[in-house]
Amino acid sequence: MNSYDIAVIGAGAAGSVAAIRAGQLGKRVVLLEKNELIGRKMLMTGRGRCNLTNSGKLDTFIEKFGRPGQFLRNAFYAFSNEDVMDFFKSRGLELKSERQGRVFPVTDNARSVTQVLEKCLEENKVDVIYKVHTKKLRRDGEEFILDTPRGAIAVKKIILATGGASYKDTGSAGDGFYIAQELGHTILPLAPGLVPLKTKESWVKEVQGLTLKNVRLLFVAGKRKIRSDVGELLFTHFGVSGPLILDLSADIVSLLSEEKDMRLLIDLKPGIDSGEMEDKLLREVREHGGREIKTMLAGMLPLKLAPLILRLAEIDLHKKVHQMNKDDRRKLARILKELPLTVTGSLALEEAMVTCGGVSIREINPRTMESRIVPGLYFAGEVIEGGAPSGGYNLQQAFSTGYLAGESAANA
Ligand SMILES: Cc1cc2nc3c(=O)[nH]c(=O)nc-3n(C[C@H](O)[C@H](O)[C@H](O)COP(=O)(O)OP(=O)(O)OC[C@H]3O[C@@H](n4cnc5c(N)ncnc54)[C@H](O)[C@@H]3O)c2cc1C
Repeated sequence: MNSYDIAVIGAGAAGSVAAIRAGQLGKRVVLLEKNELIGRKMLMTGRGRCNLTNSGKLDTFIEKFGRPGQFLRNAFYAFSNEDVMDFFKSRGLELKSERQGRVFPVTDNARSVTQVLEKCLEENKVDVIYKVHTKKLRRDGEEFILDTPRGAIAVKKIILATGGASYKDTGSAGDGFYIAQELGHTILPLAPGLVPLKTKESWVKEVQGLTLKNVRLLFVAGKRKIRSDVGELLFTHFGVSGPLILDLSADIVSLLSEEKDMRLLIDLKPGIDSGEMEDKLLREVREHGGREIKTMLAGMLPLKLAPLILRLAEIDLHKKVHQMNKDDRRKLARILKELPLTVTGSLALEEAMVTCGGVSIREINPRTMESRIVPGLYFAGEVIEGGAPSGGYNLQQAFSTGYLAGESAANA
C-alpha cells in the first residue's frame, strides 16, 4: 500500500493551496480530484475572469462573512489577501484591481490562475491523482485509508476541501458534507447564497434583460425594513438578479422560511425624496404639459420601463402630462419611488454561487482548521459553514483556510 503524510481531497482553490503549502513544508502529499483537471469551478468565477481576492482590509473580510467571520480571522491572517496577491504576482501573473477592490488577473482569464496553481503543485512534488471520487474515509488505527484507481493509500492526515453543493457539474456536489457527517460532524442546513430571487409579479418578464443602475433596493418583511442598499438590478423572466440582489440574497433566503410577506421596493430615483418627486412632476405639468407622460418618463427611465410604470400606476398610456391630476401625480411618484415586488423564493441551491451552511465551525479549531471531533482531519474552503457576498471574498476564504489547513497538517 502506498503511503503519504497528507491527502487532500478536492483540487479546487482550497485543496490546491492546502496541498501546495504542505508540499512546501516538505511533506509527501497526494491531492485527489474527482475531475480530470484542477479548479473547474474556479474557471467559471468572475464570469471566466476570476475575481480571486479583494484589496480591502482584513476586518472587511471578516465582516463580509457575518457570524462565521471571526472564525476565519486566523486563516485570513495566516494567508492574507496581500499574501495571495504576492503568491500569484511572484509567479509571473500580473493582477489588477477593479471597482470595489475586486482583484483579477490582467489576462482576464481564470485559466491563468489555475495554471499557476498547477505549476506550483508540480514544483512542490504534490502527487495529483485525477478521477478519484472519494466517498468515505476509513480509519485504521492512527491512519486513514483511501481507495484510488492506483490502489488503496494510507495517510496520516486528511484535508477535506470538496467545496459546496452548487453547480454540481463542476464536481462540487456536496460529497464532503456526507463524508464529514459520517465521521460525526454536524452539517448546518445547506442554503443558497449569491442567488437570484423569484417574484410573484409576472410583469418582470416584460422587462427581462433590463439592467437598472444606481437604484435603491429596500426589502421589507411585514412592516420591518430588512435590508437596503444602492446598486445594480437585473430583471429576469422569473424575478430579479444582478450584483446587489446576489449580495443581499443569502440574508433574504434565510428569512423567507419564516417571513411569508417579503416585499422588494425599488426606488428608481434614490437621489430625490417622495415630496421632491411630486414637485418634479408638477413642474413637468407647468413646463412640458403638451407631451405624453410616457415621453416624459422615457427621459427619466429606460424606455422599456415607461409603459409598465404607467400601467402599474393605473394611468392611461396616451395621457398628456397636463392631464395628470393630483391623484395621478401621487400614484406615479409612489411607483417611481417604491416599485413593488413580492419575493416568493430563490433559484435552487444548484444555481447559487456559494453554499451557505456546511460543516459547523464549532467543531473546527480556527487556529489550525483541524476537526475537534476527528483528530488528523482538517477542513478547507466552502465545505466549511458560511459564505460572503461577491467581491473575491469567497475565493480568499478558500485560499486562506487551505493554506492554514495545509500548514497545520504539515506541522502537527
Ligand atoms: C458561477 C460562479 C462564479 C463565482 N465567482 C466567484 C468570484 O469571482 N470570486 C469569488 O471569490 N468566488 C466566486 N465564486 C465562489 C467560489 O468559486 C467558491 O467559493 C470557491 O471555488 C470555493 O473553493 P473550494 O476549493 O472550497 O471549492 P471548489 O472550488 O468547489 O473545489 C472543490 C473541488 O473538490 C472536488 N471534489 C468534490 N467532491 C469530491 C470527491 N468526493 N472526491 C474528489 N474530489 C472532489 C471538486 O471536483 C472540486 O474540484 C463563484 C462561484 C460560482 C459558482
